[in-house]
Amino acid sequence: MSNLSKNIIWAVITLIVISLIFSFFFTPAPSAKTLSLSQLASDINAGQVKQIKVNGSELDITMTDGSAAVSQKEDGADITSTLKNLGVNDQALQNMDLQVVNQSGAQYWASLLLPPLLELLLVGVLFWLMFRQARSGVNQAFNFGRSNLKVSSFKDRVMFKDVAGLKEAKEELIEVVDFLKTPKKFLDLGARIPRGILLMGPPGTGKTLVARAIAGESNVPFFFISASEFVEMFVGVGASRTRDAFLTAKRAAPAILFIDEIDAVGRQRGAGMGGGNDEREQTLNQILVEMDGFDRDTRVIVLAATNRPDVLDPALLRPGRFDRRIILDLPDMKDREAILRIHAEGKTIGKDVDFRRVAQRTPGFSGADLANLMNEAAIAAARHGQKMIGQADLLEAAEKVIMGPERRSRVISQHEKEITAYHEGGHALVAASLKDADPVQKVSIISRGFAGGYTMKLPNEDVHLKTRAQFLADLAMMMGGYASEKLTFGDISTGASNDLKEASDLARKLVTKYGMSELGPMTFGKTEEMMFLGREISSEKNYSEKVASEIDEEVKKFLMHAYDVAEKVLKSHKAALKKVADTLMEKEVLEQDDFNAVLRPFKIKPITA
Ligand code: ADP
Ligand code: MG
Ligand code: ZN
Repeated sequence: MSNLSKNIIWAVITLIVISLIFSFFFTPAPSAKTLSLSQLASDINAGQVKQIKVNGSELDITMTDGSAAVSQKEDGADITSTLKNLGVNDQALQNMDLQVVNQSGAQYWASLLLPPLLELLLVGVLFWLMFRQARSGVNQAFNFGRSNLKVSSFKDRVMFKDVAGLKEAKEELIEVVDFLKTPKKFLDLGARIPRGILLMGPPGTGKTLVARAIAGESNVPFFFISASEFVEMFVGVGASRTRDAFLTAKRAAPAILFIDEIDAVGRQRGAGMGGGNDEREQTLNQILVEMDGFDRDTRVIVLAATNRPDVLDPALLRPGRFDRRIILDLPDMKDREAILRIHAEGKTIGKDVDFRRVAQRTPGFSGADLANLMNEAAIAAARHGQKMIGQADLLEAAEKVIMGPERRSRVISQHEKEITAYHEGGHALVAASLKDADPVQKVSIISRGFAGGYTMKLPNEDVHLKTRAQFLADLAMMMGGYASEKLTFGDISTGASNDLKEASDLARKLVTKYGMSELGPMTFGKTEEMMFLGREISSEKNYSEKVASEIDEEVKKFLMHAYDVAEKVLKSHKAALKKVADTLMEKEVLEQDDFNAVLRPFKIKPITA
């Protein structure tokens, strides 16, 4: 594509040059004035013309006062008879110098031939450009069988210090590089050098990054290809590319061959899903063949990365192929802090920035999300004309990533503002009054994304397990907005609908997934989830209608209980609710410390839900 546009630019330049040449040859000297033939005739009679040079049909005239003029006669007509016909007398004609320039000279031919020649040249150039384009296309077609192997370059070298966390992954990979460098040590003991290592984990957790870091650290040749490049337009290309890639790597042994996003070719064969792509299957088969073809002492290690290990063909995971698997998890709080620090390098960071606090506010963020957050904060700081990135920029960027940008401009009436303040105040107060609820980090009644306001509550530490008591507290807190509206205004707005949906979903999970209801230690329904992507693909109902209605009953119990708890809390702390709501209406946003300060005088004793 860029080739084509380059050619077009060349064609345009050629055209401009040619038209310049044209205008150079064919524009008369601008100083000469143009005379009509009859004007010329009367000038000659008046004795004002000194000389006429006839050049084809052009007349170059020099006046007696030295000025120049031009005129034109009919093609082929005789100049003297033309002038005589216009009434020039013989006397006047003899008094002036009449020259006929030899037209058979080079100039004559040039003026005759140059225009068609230039046109021909132009057409020729265009043809040449087109041919070149077409030929490079053909060459590309012949090159399709070659893989686009990229040998890692040292220009933007990534080292382990650029990778935060991922300790196990790094250690494992170092060990493998050790295998490559001193195989004897391992072979003597009868150990087999691992052939394939599969990095798996959610998107953005640094799989590609850690692979690049291995390239940077290990000093063995590192070949990099994305599996989607194997599969292109032409059938059979994928397999030959695979062959080529492995051949290149083997020639350079000891070496690492990295196949990124291997699920693009490594999907289960013959499943019939996705149209049963033959091309992909052939490529996958070729990868399997190549890996089996390694001798015991072939010093090539194949590294691959994927975020969909669940769809990979089992043959890929067999011993002797990708039998080593390294899982890269979403970063925990400590690692999130470290990742933020890595991406803060080269940026000017304000003194008030507390990376720990930002890490605390960003559970579930991947490394890529955090890198993006840092960048968003820098952009915001620049937009506000600041010299440094401040804590507020970072927190704002985090919330923007989670909930969408603030919509301060959305006009809401005083009454809607009041409803929102009591709604969010209700959430926050219930959360603050329950022992098992996470601490409230922030309450806001500024609309953001689709939410009219929001209450942010997050644990101070990362949690990996959640208890029933914590879920009950969560449910009660979700009901806090609804209960507060009902209690304060005797009416309910649509603002609570999302809370109700989430509470219902959660309550259903408690019953069907976690065995936390009175139906006992059992799960109901079969759901298939996409590993690492957290999306449910399908769920299957494997229980009777009777059980279904029992489940509904339990779900309802959870929700009613949650509502009762919320109502009880709000009823017993009416003054506190009013204070929180009033402060919210005034300030719109309460950070954790402000919120705690508002509640302090009320001395609320936390209860269990
Ligand atoms: P994937 O797992 O999808 O291949 P990448 O390796 O492409 O993810 O990560 C995307 C970006 O996220 C990296 O370029 C890097 O900037 C950032 N990132 C991810 N994980 C980390 C980490 N552990 N340390 C530092 N940066 C990270
Ligand atoms: Mg990647
Ligand atoms: Zn709500």
